[in-house]
Amino acid sequence: MRATTISWILEQLSPSRCIACDEAVRRDTAFCGLCVATVERSTHPHSPFLYGGAIARALTRLKYEVRRDLGPVLGQLLVLGLGEALDEPFDLVAPVPLHRDKLSERGYNQCVWLSRTVAEASNAEHSALLLRRTRNTEAQAQLGLREREFNVNGAFAVRARGGVEGRSVMIVDDVRTTGATLRACEAALYDGGATRVRMLSLCMTPR
Ligand SMILES: [Zn+2]
Repeated sequence: MRATTISWILEQLSPSRCIACDEAVRRDTAFCGLCVATVERSTHPHSPFLYGGAIARALTRLKYEVRRDLGPVLGQLLVLGLGEALDEPFDLVAPVPLHRDKLSERGYNQCVWLSRTVAEASNAEHSALLLRRTRNTEAQAQLGLREREFNVNGAFAVRARGGVEGRSVMIVDDVRTTGATLRACEAALYDGGATRVRMLSLCMTPR
């Protein structure tokens, strides 16, 4: 796959309404004209968009307004944004897990749509329950850089140790901020015997 420009990427998606504001759109775009102007690509090869604007709104709707219908579209957006970064084969794809308390409160893990779409696009096995959160970490948003690292350090574990032994794994998050969460997942996977780990996210906060 050779995804290049942002307009090419967005034109591959086809909900009938803008995923950020529900304005009716042509069948071949994810965002309306006003929203699309707020979508920015990042330079990071594994986090293709900058967090903000219409992408942030669409993610908020998926996470807090129970708009599950937006999950597959955001998954496609991630796949198209990653482009050739998905050419390298991996065995497994897994989402960053939610703690069970948050999962029962929200009812679903928004990252599962992203990881499932990545798995399908890269012909890898999807494993929604590969990792688990061992403790309910505080919301990262209120914490500084060092606190974030400390907060999530050791907060993840591989659910079944044999599950990742000798295998390569891509883990998928929605928003990369400091990268502390993804690094903590990466450490848990290497502890479990993974041979190679790649960390992906739909978007990253601007530095
Ligand atoms: Zn819109």
